[in-house]
Amino acid sequence: MFLDLDGFKLINDSLGHEQGDKLLVAFAERIAPLFHPGDTLARLGGDEFTLLLDNITNHHSLAIPERIQQALETPFHLGELEFSVSASIGIVMQPEPELGAEEILRDADTAMYRAKAQGRGQYVMFDPTMHNQALQRFQLEIELKKAIERQEFVVFYQPIVDLVNGGLVGFEALVRWQHPTQGLVLPDYFIPLAEKTGLIITIGREVLLAACQQAKSWQDKFDNQQKLLISVNLAVPQLLSSHIMDEIDQILQQSGLPPATLKLEVTESGIMENIETALDVLSAIRERSITLSIDDFGTGYSSLSYLHRFPFDTLKVDRSFVIEMEKDSKNLEIIRGIVGLAHNLEKKVIVEGIETETQLALVKNLGCEYGQGYLFAKPLPAKEAEKLLRSPRLFF
Ligand code: C2E
Ligand code: MG
Ligand code: MG
Repeated sequence: MFLDLDGFKLINDSLGHEQGDKLLVAFAERIAPLFHPGDTLARLGGDEFTLLLDNITNHHSLAIPERIQQALETPFHLGELEFSVSASIGIVMQPEPELGAEEILRDADTAMYRAKAQGRGQYVMFDPTMHNQALQRFQLEIELKKAIERQEFVVFYQPIVDLVNGGLVGFEALVRWQHPTQGLVLPDYFIPLAEKTGLIITIGREVLLAACQQAKSWQDKFDNQQKLLISVNLAVPQLLSSHIMDEIDQILQQSGLPPATLKLEVTESGIMENIETALDVLSAIRERSITLSIDDFGTGYSSLSYLHRFPFDTLKVDRSFVIEMEKDSKNLEIIRGIVGLAHNLEKKVIVEGIETETQLALVKNLGCEYGQGYLFAKPLPAKEAEKLLRSPRLFF
């Protein structure tokens, strides 16, 4: 078993390493009595422990993590302070005889990461498909790097519609990967890994440049489109990278796009997790007259007490609320609440994922300013999007 304490870094960072060390000792002392002579409990490093149990049955093996979690239910005391600590546990049962210690540890570690992903205090049994998934992730990372070199990313444009008059306000730029063998790959497949590995910084820069250049060329080419808005997603690693403002400035200069026609979309969890740095960058963005939108609003764990400190202009209501809206009037009330909140803060609301006439009628009725969704148009290649500018029409 591979054990890793949840949230240990926070304790170390906030109380200092000495307190952290004490907690590790207390943790080991707490769980050691659960095992039999002949079992081995070891600290690998940091807050990582491993546990080697001999001669146990499948049934028994699951009793152990249960007992560990139970033992951790009582809080720890360090001086005056009280802590609740949980551990994420990965388990490998009766590994193949040909596997060496390192491979067994690797598999237990993989299972432990899976447990972490499920939240605090979980345990997960390793199965070989996890190893395949780890390999696939590694493969995907290599492919992503190649894709960057070969410039295989393309930007699609989804119309953003004015819900008062049905007119086109602008587009959201959404990246796609023109894969050499798999065809067009959607971002949900590669953005999470690109964020984890930092590759999103390069990909995001390319997308921002392409989108700004495209928007500028449309503004110049078509009458009455000088204010055409382009909305671009900004991932957390981009937001936190030290060069982000230089890059934005350079792209604005290179494309000639008026900053007031650029909108950047940031997720609420991205801001909340790094509040101080994020606030600095967001104000720097705002100083340039670029506008800001909080994306996927309602799905993260925003602290409402922080909301008024964010210099944003638009709240983007997540699609999940819209899907549920017709089925359950409570979701409609949630959107109504979000709209009220936004309007009281003098912000505008954009609703994404509008797919039906009923949904459109409902969100219009709530006073949302903008909408986006398949009902109007799917994300389109630049050429298709351009047709909407060449022969403008109302979306409803
Ligand atoms: P998002 O920023 O919330 O973008 C909206 C997503 O909802 C898009 O998915 C869009 O195609 C989809 N959508 C819009 N209207 C509808 C609808 O009516 N029905 C349904 N079912 N879906 C709708 P897409 O293009 O697959 O992008 C998914 C996510 O990937 C985006 O969510 C965004 O978080 C991320 N992403 C896309 N492009 C970029 C990028 O250039 N940079 C970064 N950092 N993230 C990106
Ligand atoms: Mg977005
Ligand atoms: Mg969204």
